Amino acid sequence: MPKVLIIGAGGVGGVVAHKCAAATDVFSEVTLASRTRSRCDKIRDQIVELGGREIRVEQVDADNVPETVKLLRDVQPDVLINVALPYQDLTLMDACLEAGVDYLDTANYEPLDVAKFEYSWQWAYQDRFVKAGRMAVLGSGFDPGVTNVYCAYAQKHLFDTIEYVDIVDCNGGSHGKAFATNFNPEINIREITARGRYWEQGEWKETDPLSVAKIFDYPGVGERKSFLLYHEELESLAKHLRGLKRIRFWMTFGESYLKHLEVMGNIGITRIDPVDFQGQKIVPIQFLKALLPDPSSLAAGYTGKTSIGCLVEGLKDGKRRKVFLYNVCDHAETYKEVRAQAISYTTGVPAVTGAIMMVTGKWKGAGVWNMEQLDPDPFLEDVAKRGLPWHVEERAV
Ligand code: NDP
Repeated sequence: MPKVLIIGAGGVGGVVAHKCAAATDVFSEVTLASRTRSRCDKIRDQIVELGGREIRVEQVDADNVPETVKLLRDVQPDVLINVALPYQDLTLMDACLEAGVDYLDTANYEPLDVAKFEYSWQWAYQDRFVKAGRMAVLGSGFDPGVTNVYCAYAQKHLFDTIEYVDIVDCNGGSHGKAFATNFNPEINIREITARGRYWEQGEWKETDPLSVAKIFDYPGVGERKSFLLYHEELESLAKHLRGLKRIRFWMTFGESYLKHLEVMGNIGITRIDPVDFQGQKIVPIQFLKALLPDPSSLAAGYTGKTSIGCLVEGLKDGKRRKVFLYNVCDHAETYKEVRAQAISYTTGVPAVTGAIMMVTGKWKGAGVWNMEQLDPDPFLEDVAKRGLPWHVEERAV
């Protein structure tokens, strides 16, 4: 049976470890490695406490390729699941190529010093992965991830031509803190404070950060104001969906969250460039991260639901059609199951399903792949079984 190595022991890494450990029919051995070993130990203890099996834990600096290659050669996994930070994507892809291991992640590479979200760096590995006969699957979280697969399903089964896609993401939950981010604060704030961008008629159009908003009705949550953001799956979907005319991404934020962000932006604490502080260089957003609650600590007591999906419009048999594909996930339920809030859960479960598609050969092919390029059917069947059921709703055109 296949072996899996998970790198990153944050909120998402915890869910991935719990779910891989539970997949006793797929993985013979599960190893969790991260920069801080104690975080891996804590997750291992939690899995055992909840009645799961023993997993192996290791310490690794994923920025260091030789160190990671050494770990890969020792563990000999069939797949590496990267749920560290986007900064580690390229070093982990390098390490996988060197050790001959398949690779999967949930977020595209970002350089530390520029908030720039694009696939160019990882797509540039295409030839090397093809030549090595290895597979790399990019963005196997919820968005990117399941949202790409919903689009692939719509393209395969529901439409002849997809013309418009709106990806809508609502966290209707409450963690009770004045301000906190649901996943890594640095990555989250860089994403939200960047300029908005969407794709229309073959061109990228830019908007000021959080300047365009619309109300969407989210199943399980209700109507919520949603803001247009750039999100990485737009880039690959604009490339891979046939006949597409426009694709946009929307996310909900509460008034208080936005007020905090605005004030933090005004005083400069979300800056990502180094500043002098008492003779030392510090990066304000990294200092802010140290002050904010750890996203995995929000899980206990989190109430409410997430509701994320794709509103897809296009033509089927010459007729116009609009369909909403979505999932609703309950924070309290995910806490009960794996001690995580729903944002970590909705990211971690698809990472496990993606890895299972690879090790069972349901997805195969040397090269670098985005999720919508692979068969959606086995993925959707597995992800529903593992905790993220999905629904298709016909909407009025
Ligand atoms: P966290 O910050 O909670 O966890 C990140 C983990 O990675 C930490 O354990 C951290 O170690 C570890 N890490 C960081 N640098 C290194 C390194 N050099 N070597 C080894 N380990 C390292 O983040 P989340 O769990 O919230 O997010 C994980 C990933 O999931 C991110 O890439 C995020 O962008 C992505 N994501 C994707 C989503 C999707 O839907 N596609 C949604 C949400 C998140 P340490 O404990 O020492 O800091």
